[in-house]
Amino acid sequence: MIDVPVLIVGGGPVGLTMSLILSQQGAKSLLVERHPGTAIVPKARAINARTMEMYRQLGVEDDIRAAGTPPQFGKSIIWTETLAGKEIKRLTPGRSSAESLAASPAGNCGCSQDLLEPVLRAHAERLAPESVLFDTELKSFTMTDDAVEGELLDRSTGNIVPFRAQYLVAADGAHSPVRHMLGIERTGERDIYDSVNIHSRVDLRPWTADRPAALYYVDQPDLRGTFLTINGTDRWGFLIHSLSVYGFTQANMPPERCVEMIRRAVGVADLPVEVLGISFWKCSAMVSDKFRSGRVFLVGDAAHETTPSGGFGLNLGVQDAQNLAWKLAAVLRGEAGISLLETYEVERQPVAREIVRATLLNMQSLGRTERQAEAKLPRAQYLNEQGLIFGLQYQSAAVVPDGSTPSEVADHVTQYVPTAFPGSRAPHVWLKRGDERVSTIELYGRTFVMMIGPEGREWRNAVPSHLWKLVEIHQIGDDLSDDADDFCAAYGIGKGGAVLVRPDGYVAFRINSLAENPGAILSDAFGQLLGLCNCAA
Ligand SMILES: Cc1cc2nc3c(=O)[nH]c(=O)nc-3n(C[C@H](O)[C@H](O)[C@H](O)COP(=O)(O)OP(=O)(O)OC[C@H]3O[C@@H](n4cnc5c(N)ncnc54)[C@H](O)[C@@H]3O)c2cc1C
Repeated sequence: MIDVPVLIVGGGPVGLTMSLILSQQGAKSLLVERHPGTAIVPKARAINARTMEMYRQLGVEDDIRAAGTPPQFGKSIIWTETLAGKEIKRLTPGRSSAESLAASPAGNCGCSQDLLEPVLRAHAERLAPESVLFDTELKSFTMTDDAVEGELLDRSTGNIVPFRAQYLVAADGAHSPVRHMLGIERTGERDIYDSVNIHSRVDLRPWTADRPAALYYVDQPDLRGTFLTINGTDRWGFLIHSLSVYGFTQANMPPERCVEMIRRAVGVADLPVEVLGISFWKCSAMVSDKFRSGRVFLVGDAAHETTPSGGFGLNLGVQDAQNLAWKLAAVLRGEAGISLLETYEVERQPVAREIVRATLLNMQSLGRTERQAEAKLPRAQYLNEQGLIFGLQYQSAAVVPDGSTPSEVADHVTQYVPTAFPGSRAPHVWLKRGDERVSTIELYGRTFVMMIGPEGREWRNAVPSHLWKLVEIHQIGDDLSDDADDFCAAYGIGKGGAVLVRPDGYVAFRINSLAENPGAILSDAFGQLLGLCNCAA
């Protein structure tokens, strides 16, 4: 019998990230994945800057960048008639503009999923040896008031292994067996178009080396596809969109036809092409009606399915893990009340709805569902979603309002205005620790962090002793210096103010200046956001 606090079902990017963060938080978990190894299909590649911030906090960033696509390929998107023929358009995604890059110390990264997952797996296993079991499938489970119990199948031996866990996290993908077992429905648009993802060995350098891009769209009257850059040399993905609209079916796409399609898209009839894998899939845009049922939580594609237009699915999913993991760990350690877990769905479901909708509009603007006579260029928001990446805000019991109102932006999809309004991602500001340049983002990600203005020393002294082990304290002018005098303005506090940042990097509480009875104020704030009291802070 396996007895573990958290069972994670699914060893895709979201399950592996969940495992990593739980281990970093000191919570024991066991991840089971039914396949014998990590993904062999290079699906996701665009890892956005917010996700890379999280991987920096987890100490995984450098290995992901080393495994990823050379950075110059992230700077453009190109439309062509054939790769070797006429170029229709070239654009720099808004996400790669200098203004966007200034929002974060960690830039975007291209790393295909088949290269990313082994990195995540290695780090998860390093942090918690024997916490990851491949070739192991969840077969069934039941829930009681205080546990989830069920059976795992060891696929290598055929043995059934019973398990008991306090919580189950379903990171089991878009077709989520766990979601089905729970009877949770989804709302949105299902099977919008069909597509095939062809993974190939082909040297495209003659047509790409002097114009590196993340995506090369090929728009012909009878073929619409996209080359997905993997290593920028001899390994590429090729997506054919809306197969049936152009007369293709799974039955008439054997490997030889895939080779022919790639040659046609490049415009070189005898190009050597080796097909490494063919994966048929259908595009949907759906959000689960519930992200939680009792002791079971849905994360990643199990909770929401985006269209690939915008590169959000993986990013959205691993950020679910970031949101849920610290809450589970705090409840398991007895530091938070069980009601903290309710804030997972409250915070993440609206974000998922917003992002799924944006990717649907991106996809429609690219004309994926109808036959197009000529290239259809996307809406201006496509790959320019800084507001969605950095600017979405949480409203829940795990955020203490400060009485201010959030700043308005004209377009919340594209515009990000850094703010420490409670419920926002705590903004990036460059500071110094001794001679070392450090971003505020690098201070977050493990525990609660209290950032105090230069005249706010009393906040430091006011932290009640029962909270000492929960919070790390930094003060401008003490352990950190702010030569450019940026911090207080960026965080919207006076010099005597303080901001409390949650372990997922979101602002939990903010106070503008020194106040009477600071110990009680902090005690109430923690009580509310950890679900330990009924205080109305
Ligand atoms: C063509 C394409 C391009 C994409 N591009 C991007 C992009 O650029 N950026 C981006 O952010 N996203 C992108 N995505 C989306 C991204 O691939 C998904 O969002 C991501 O894989 C979701 O991760 P996950 O861990 O939630 O689910 P999955 O990756 O589907 O992993 C779920 C895992 O659960 C396992 N499992 C299922 N049932 C069981 C069980 N009973 N027991 C044990 N294990 C089980 C499965 O075997 C699987 O390994 C793209 C998707 C496609 C199709």
